[in-house]
Formats: sequence, structure tokens, C-alpha cells
Amino acid sequence: MIDIKGVTKKFGSLQVLKGIDLHINKGEVVSIVGPSGAGKTTLLQIIGTLDKPDSGEIVIDDINVGTLSTNKLSDFRNKHLGFVFQFHQLLPEFTALENIMIPAYIAGASKKDAKKRAEELLDFMGLADRSSHKPAELSGGEKQRIAVARALVNQPAVILADEPSGSLDTKNKEELHQLFFDLRDKFGQTFVIVTHDEGLAKLTDRTIHLKDGQIIATDTATTVTRDGSENIFSGKITDET
Ligand code: ADP
Repeated sequence: MIDIKGVTKKFGSLQVLKGIDLHINKGEVVSIVGPSGAGKTTLLQIIGTLDKPDSGEIVIDDINVGTLSTNKLSDFRNKHLGFVFQFHQLLPEFTALENIMIPAYIAGASKKDAKKRAEELLDFMGLADRSSHKPAELSGGEKQRIAVARALVNQPAVILADEPSGSLDTKNKEELHQLFFDLRDKFGQTFVIVTHDEGLAKLTDRTIHLKDGQIIATDTATTVTRDGSENIFSGKITDET
């Protein structure tokens, strides 16, 4: 689904990414962790085509994004990628339903179709009764779930999330994390999540540890069974690189 090869990025004299190679499968939920300044957000922005690498290649859904013109790139972004940020970034003057519908309009859907899709997502999130509320009338957890619904409205293959639960309390955090897995199970989306939240990272299929612009270790969720039945290990195996 996502193939990253030899990606480097410099800001001024600071080498922020020093050659990242990463393959992410369809339907995988991958977390990226590491100390502040490690390059996590920069990597996510590059995967999200919001920034360009200095060298290297990003292939998403069999499309080499480096070869797309500016117009095609924004079209690609609208159709293939959904973004969730730490702060919901909902438009305050629009209702929950309208906030979810807007990216569908931008991508060319009819009003009827955009509304139908937004209503289905609100329903799935258990927020149908919040449809006509404006962001200021919603709780933090509700706003973040609306932001996730907005990211999903164009049925993107990939959801990129930067500290999605960073502004939430424990209960809302857990609900949001569960939602990611429910969405993956229902729609088969691939998730790449930058997080400081060890609880979330532990739940993901794979955790990529980034430090000083390099992948230093990968934890992969593994279940080992004996005789095909008895579960003798279930957890993550770390592969240091
Ligand atoms: P992380 O998400 O792991 O905290 P970032 O990717 O945000 O790290 O940043 C990595 C480094 O690159 C930091 O030192 C940061 O200050 C720097 N950086 C990020 N974006 C820019 C930018 N647009 N211009 C200059 N420096 C930047």
C-alpha cells in the first residue's frame, strides 16, 4: 500500500530524515514513535504529500507521488489520503454534518451523495444526534471523532494521523483508539499514526521507532501458537536496525 525508499529531508543544515525505508501493507495499523525532534511529523507530512523529500521515493496505491504535477497531487491527496491532526481543525461556522461533507464536495461529489456519506459516518461513530451541532457545542472526544469522519468521507485508502489523541482525556483516548481498529476492520483502511501514546502504540500492528531521522527499531505484533491452538506468546517482537 505504501512503499517508502531512501527518503531524506533537510531543513537548512539540519538533516531531519536520513534515509527512511518502510513498507506498509494494506489494512495495517502502524504507529511511529520516538523522541521530540526525531522527524516523525516530517515523515508523516512527506507520506501525506504535504511536503517533498530531498531524495527517495514514495509509492502509495501503486502511484509514485513524486511524478505527479501539483494539480494531480492535490487530486491524489483528496481521493487517496485522509488526515487527522492533534487538534480537530473543524470549521467553527459549520455543523458537524457540513464539516464532514466539505471534503466530499471538494472532491466533486453531489450534495446528496456527500450528505448521505456524511450521515452514514456519523451513524457509524454513534454521533447521529450531533449532526446539526457546531464544533463549539461538541465535547473534545466528539470533535475528534467528527474529524475522523471528515478524514474518511472520500473513502481514502490511507489515514494519516498526527498525535490524534494528544488532546483527549483517557476515556476519549481509548474510544478513539478503538474507533481506528473498528474502521480498519469495517473499511480496510491503512493507518499511519504518529503518537507519544504508548497505550496506542502497543495496540498497533507495528511500531516504528524513529530517532535522529532514522528507524532504529521495529516492534511487530506476533502471536505464536503451539499445535495450532495453544497461545504461547502474544505480544510484540522488537527488531533493532
Ligand atoms: P517530531 O515530529 O519527531 O517531533 P519533526 O518532524 O516535527 O519531529 O521535526 C524534526 C526536526 O525538524 C525538528 O528539529 C524541527 O525543529 C525541524 N523542522 C521541522 N519542520 C521544519 C521546518 N518546516 N523548517 C525548519 N525546521 C523544521
